[in-house]
Amino acid sequence: MGIIVRVARAIIGRPRPLRCTGCGRDKTAIERLVSGPHVYICERCHADAAERLAETPPSTVLMECSFCGKTGATVPLRADRRHGICGECVALVGQILLEAASR
Ligand SMILES: [Zn+2]
Ligand SMILES: [Zn+2]
Repeated sequence: MGIIVRVARAIIGRPRPLRCTGCGRDKTAIERLVSGPHVYICERCHADAAERLAETPPSTVLMECSFCGKTGATVPLRADRRHGICGECVALVGQILLEAASR
């Protein structure tokens, strides 16, 4: 199991004044926030990133993913375009959100 999953599990469900890196909304306005090493993404921004990945052609740029640190096709986050999420991490965050929702 990857480090991201462990960190994300630790943070989910712990109410703290965190802010989504994707949209800038704070934790009080957001149901669930999944964390990467230095970034946070909410359910809404995750769905948005998944949609942009599914576009033809996908709305990705070549940059470092803020969640796994790999450089590749990454969707920049809307509120802070210095950060982005790659397809692999979008899938991973999707799993985490699904698990969290079924609890
Ligand atoms: Zn967001
Ligand atoms: Zn990634």
